[in-house]
Amino acid sequence: MVDPSVAAPHSIEEFVKGYEEGGRLRGLRCANCGLVTATWGLACSRCGRYPLEEAELSTNGTVVAFTIQTVPGDEFLNDAPYAYVVVDLERGGRVTGWMPGVRSDEELRVGDPVHFVPSYKPGVQFAKGSGSPGPRPEEHR
Ligand SMILES: [Zn+2]
Repeated sequence: MVDPSVAAPHSIEEFVKGYEEGGRLRGLRCANCGLVTATWGLACSRCGRYPLEEAELSTNGTVVAFTIQTVPGDEFLNDAPYAYVVVDLERGGRVTGWMPGVRSDEELRVGDPVHFVPSYKPGVQFAKGSGSPGPRPEEHR
């Protein structure tokens, strides 16, 4: 329970509800030490600064862990099996999400690049490869 006397910049309910909106991922940034996180909090987990600023997270990231989900919840019945992934986003933030179409351990590796795909489904959906927006080396020749 959040102490109502603390002037929070936003509530955890708002943060979670608006987490995936309009094709963007919301996070928080510390103006003091530069920490970027996808985990809601009142103060910086590294330096303790309060409050944190809202920040837009990168939609590109790297798989750091995954498992193949074969027993899904009701909302994903038609999608199983799929990969449940933990992704480190470029420039900060670690989120969990899912990847439809990844049906076995052989189809994904830790370290693979992935990108966020806005979806009507709940949760944060990812697909293989780097997506746009996000500058790629060949675009800067
Ligand atoms: Zn900090």
